[in-house]
Amino acid sequence: AEAITLPVATDWLNRLAARYATERDWLVELDSAIGDGDHGANLARGFAAVRDKLQAAPPADVAALFRLVGMTLISTVGGASGPLYGTLFLEAGKKAAGAASLDVAGWRACLEAGVAGIRARGKAEAGEKTMLDALLPAVAALDGTALPAALLASAAAATHGSDATIPLIARKGRASYLGERSVGHRDPGAASSVMLLDELAQAAA
Ligand code: ADP
Ligand code: MG
Ligand code: MG
Repeated sequence: AEAITLPVATDWLNRLAARYATERDWLVELDSAIGDGDHGANLARGFAAVRDKLQAAPPADVAALFRLVGMTLISTVGGASGPLYGTLFLEAGKKAAGAASLDVAGWRACLEAGVAGIRARGKAEAGEKTMLDALLPAVAALDGTALPAALLASAAAATHGSDATIPLIARKGRASYLGERSVGHRDPGAASSVMLLDELAQAAA
């Protein structure tokens, strides 16, 4: 696809519901090692609710879809990740307002605003072993004008960022209670952020 249109965005969210259902156990395993073990269940539940709402009441445009996703995640996902991913989509929805579709620059503005929202809400910085360690490199890697290629590069940067959380000491969220014992484990939120960006790249391919 040349741009993220409403059908592409809808396909993205439907793919994501399936992806989080499939990866639920792995995300639970990651969160069991350094958290409370609910990350996979949280996201599987939240994105299944998103899929059902999109089907029941299809939004009119990309901005409305992002807002619906944000509100649904905030109301159905507990814990840290629900409000944080919810904020990502709500802020992205503000940036997408009025646009029929998003090109690379448009999507970059949305993701940048979403990530800024996560930073404001969670008060985390790069290198603190959170989802930001996947999301920040993903924003930085989004350039050029060819949408599918830019999204693939963005998802690849997120993957490297997620891998790089393994040796880090967690400074935010439940994993920070473990201190040095968090070293040697991948951050679950970084792993789920990779899936989010990877499914967008697939939907736009
Ligand atoms: P909880 O920790 O409340 O059980 P989840 O397990 O669903 O929530 O999500 C945990 C993930 O949330 C972590 O792996 C991390 O990526 C992310 N996270 C936690 N706290 C923060 C924060 N302050 N800023 C950014 N991300 C955070
Ligand atoms: Mg958890
Ligand atoms: Mg929890």
